[in-house]
Amino acid sequence: MTDDFKGKVVLVTGAGSGIGRHAAQTFASRGALVYAADVNEQGLAGTQELIAKAGGTATVAWVDVASEDDISALLARIGKEAGRLDAAFNNAGITGGTHRIEDYPTDDFDKVLSVNLRSVFLGMKYELPLMKRSGGGAICNTASVAALTGPGGMSAYAASKHGVHGLTRVAAMENAAHGIRVNALAPGWTETPMVAANSIQNPAFAQLARTAIPAKRGAQPAEVADAAVWLCSPAASYVIGQMLVVDGGMTIGGFELP
Ligand code: NAD
Repeated sequence: MTDDFKGKVVLVTGAGSGIGRHAAQTFASRGALVYAADVNEQGLAGTQELIAKAGGTATVAWVDVASEDDISALLARIGKEAGRLDAAFNNAGITGGTHRIEDYPTDDFDKVLSVNLRSVFLGMKYELPLMKRSGGGAICNTASVAALTGPGGMSAYAASKHGVHGLTRVAAMENAAHGIRVNALAPGWTETPMVAANSIQNPAFAQLARTAIPAKRGAQPAEVADAAVWLCSPAASYVIGQMLVVDGGMTIGGFELP
């Protein structure tokens, strides 16, 4: 394992579970001081324990990513305690319910947009000034294959993730000359607690999704998290404003030979 994040300070949101937890573990194993943020206190404690057991260092923070007060306080805290921010993985998200547009509860739509899209705007709004003061950095925002497709029943989710893609491009354009690289990650079907909950809610959709994936399986969270860590690492130094799709071929869009 390399130590390419040694001495670096990294923020991961949604770090109490799934993709965020694995990314936090990987950043820490490569030498970073990790700030792990989530609304799930128990999940955060679990992540901190896993990192500590492996010899890494993590500070946990209970943060609602949709709250400007929470995000501004978190970044102020990181600035005060660590004095810098080198990478941020804005990853927390929810799927919301599955309903046709005409049946989609408007409050639920607003909630999904807040947690998935407003959060990425707020995150970058407060991360960028600290990164500029640190002399540069890298940001990865979690989108989804739903940033490229139109999954029936998931209007709020797809709208939020298309929005993350757009925000990422704007942030990349505005900050490339300041030494800050901004990219997005588009996971496909990933076997995390979020997907397990969704599969229970909609088993037919889960079965259809697995059959339609060329790899014929979902991703393990680490397979997806590793791509986010790579985007934030020096190995991706010339990758700017891209959305890296990690989906087992789900969005290839062709047909297999019979
Ligand atoms: P997960 O449910 O395992 O983890 C998401 C974490 O985000 C949880 O710990 C949750 O507590 C946290 N969170 C939710 N709302 C929050 C809030 N308001 N403030 C702070 N934290 C909050 O899910 P996951 O699959 O690891 O998802 C991570 C990201 O990946 C999400 O943005 C999701 O949309 C995206 N994604 C997941 C898949 C998949 O198949 N699992 C596919 C595409 C995209």
